[in-house]
Amino acid sequence: MPKPTERNISLTGTIRFTGLKLTNTASYAAGVPGVKAALQHSFKEMGALEALSTLSKMNQKDGFDCPGCAWPDPEVPSKLGEYCENGAKALAEEATYEKADADFFKTHSVEEISTWSDFKIGKSGRLTRPMVLRAGSIHYTPISWENAFTLIADELKTLSHPDEGIFYTSGRSSNEAAFLYGLFVRAFGTNNMPDCSNMCHESSGVGLSETLGIGKGSVTLEDLHEAEVVMVIGQNPGTNHPRMLSALEACKKNDGKIISINPLAEAGLIRFKDPQSLNGMLKGTSLTDIHLQVKINQDVALLKLLMKKLAAQDAKGEKVFDHEFINTYTNGYESFLSDLENYTEATLYELCGIASEQIDQTVALLAKKNKIIICWAMGLTQHKNGVANVKECVNLLLLKGSLGKLGTGTCPVRGHSNVQGDRTVGIMHHVSNELNQSLEKVFGFTPPEKEGLDTVHAVQAMHEGKAKVFIALGGNFASAVADTQYTAEALQRCNLTVQISTKLNRSHLITGQKALILPTLGRSEKDIKNGNQRFLTVENSMGKVHRTKGVLPPKSKQLKSEPEIIGGMADAFFKGKHPVAWKNLGSDYNTIREKIAATITGFEAVTEESKGTGFYLPNNVRELDFSKLPNGKAQFSACAVADHKMKPNELLLMTIRSHDQFNTTIYGLNDRYRGIHNERRIIFMNQTDMTAQHFKKLEIVDLVSNYDSIERRAEQFLVVPYNIPEGNVAAYFPETNMIIPYNHFADYSNTPISKSVIVSVEKR
Ligand code: SF4
Repeated sequence: MPKPTERNISLTGTIRFTGLKLTNTASYAAGVPGVKAALQHSFKEMGALEALSTLSKMNQKDGFDCPGCAWPDPEVPSKLGEYCENGAKALAEEATYEKADADFFKTHSVEEISTWSDFKIGKSGRLTRPMVLRAGSIHYTPISWENAFTLIADELKTLSHPDEGIFYTSGRSSNEAAFLYGLFVRAFGTNNMPDCSNMCHESSGVGLSETLGIGKGSVTLEDLHEAEVVMVIGQNPGTNHPRMLSALEACKKNDGKIISINPLAEAGLIRFKDPQSLNGMLKGTSLTDIHLQVKINQDVALLKLLMKKLAAQDAKGEKVFDHEFINTYTNGYESFLSDLENYTEATLYELCGIASEQIDQTVALLAKKNKIIICWAMGLTQHKNGVANVKECVNLLLLKGSLGKLGTGTCPVRGHSNVQGDRTVGIMHHVSNELNQSLEKVFGFTPPEKEGLDTVHAVQAMHEGKAKVFIALGGNFASAVADTQYTAEALQRCNLTVQISTKLNRSHLITGQKALILPTLGRSEKDIKNGNQRFLTVENSMGKVHRTKGVLPPKSKQLKSEPEIIGGMADAFFKGKHPVAWKNLGSDYNTIREKIAATITGFEAVTEESKGTGFYLPNNVRELDFSKLPNGKAQFSACAVADHKMKPNELLLMTIRSHDQFNTTIYGLNDRYRGIHNERRIIFMNQTDMTAQHFKKLEIVDLVSNYDSIERRAEQFLVVPYNIPEGNVAAYFPETNMIIPYNHFADYSNTPISKSVIVSVEKR
């Protein structure tokens, strides 16, 4: 077993409090404070004029796609500005003039930088040129692109089997880069392609594929506007998908109703002050009609209770269920009904913690409506029963026939701008015979047929010394993955780690014996080749592919685009001894798109995307075509309720993002919607639990988990009394990833259990 590097690297930065200021929680999202925050962040990093002109191009047809989440753009983007506060922050992070250049690394060693907070590391700025961290050294030094590619190729050639290589993808990569990366990895001989969706919506992919035949959502924006009921479960759109609030506002204006199911009463689901209109900005629109403050991870119990009551009404002949739809399009209805009989209402009430009045109010609403959409995010997927959570949602939609019609459907909301596109164009550890056959036909080589490693298993392979080279196309793997200590040891046991990145983050410090930083263009930057500007494509959360074209000059002349970096790596590895002309392909996006069209079903129109019209990929649910499923039918599922065996004083923790955060990127230290300012090391706790366990407000505590008799500790958090169900607590990641065990993850999807971790809170 190789020994981790000798470098003295802090995994968290020196823990210190930054001066917490508490205010009341917000009663609405966006509005004047939202506009102010968006402009403050962008003006600070870019200057007012450049910020305003660049923001005016974001999410516009002839502009660039926001590097934030994957929320779709309306057919006619607003000329006033088609972005939200967090989109402006994402742009400002990328378009900053701060630089982590050669002088920066000469001055600061990786050991010193690792003592900084994630926030400060991120503010170090854009990476400007290729840098290498030699074995035994603590300073990155400059390296040429050519030597960097050669170093990677030589290291890959030392591996005794291609499966000793791990090739990670974050959801920011374009379709062209992701397709080329997947092609190179398969040509190299492995399917070890973990990606960030393993940690987020993999449970959605598995749950939806097994019940509806496709791992993606079925709704469009228009459906959301026309729905009679939108259920928002385990999602905080006000922070993580803010433009979704405009769609919910439109739904309300069409007399739609919103049911939010969440342990927290999030401001973004209470009221939305839409900056697109004066009335919207000042008065705003009330969103949620019914907030069901469910206990953490008891969504299955809650949904079962609702469906049990609906079934009782239907059995009385009140035509609550769409039996024509059930008979025509579904399988397993009877066994689903009998499974419901296994649970008493009393048990389900006890588990979900919702009052009967609210349950009856919700049942009354759902009973008479059929145009129902269910939206969800990590609050459903990052649990041991994440797949069951998704399937239980599908059960409700099948009962109501709420699929394949306007105003109906599934809506797993993707968190990263092209995470769905990456999977569509081939980034996956699973083997698809259909894709392999297409690739062999088009490129003349035989892709590997052995199942690859997803994120949790890639970490274990590196930790056990079975994988020795780790290459990341974007992202911040070391901070995003569960079990920070174990993951760090895994990375530090590698011979080489490579990060293709725009900005400095902790994964550039938690490295293998040798490490490379390969700086790439940002989404907002012009990608010019031989005087011609090139464009790339991405796929949004609703399955629409569209182009993105930068508008800003690159922050450094030494940056390369992701496709060029991949082409360069592959060319150095194969040295022309492969049917694919990697270097040429890496710089010729039109040819990459032709190859995508030739190998990926539904992408035919991508070669026409220069016109910027965009196109929807096929979606069988919209056509009510379940021919790929057993009996050609959508599937009902019998799902078990969650069962957390907790000892006295143990609490169930959900890790969350603050409002000044996107995944592991920390824009700032505030979480103003929750009344938190200038601090991240806090734990939200119910006052009753505080009293029962004798914790005072702002007392300093440690969070401790104990799985498989292994204690994991995250130190120094301030206790903040908060409106959260008894027995439940919440705290931010990545600070709490330290206590999430690497080997406890969702059944079937292997998604980490970040939203339901059993912890005890200890006084210091
Ligand atoms: S909603 Fe998402 S994609 Fe849209 S501007 Fe905001 S962060 Fe960007």
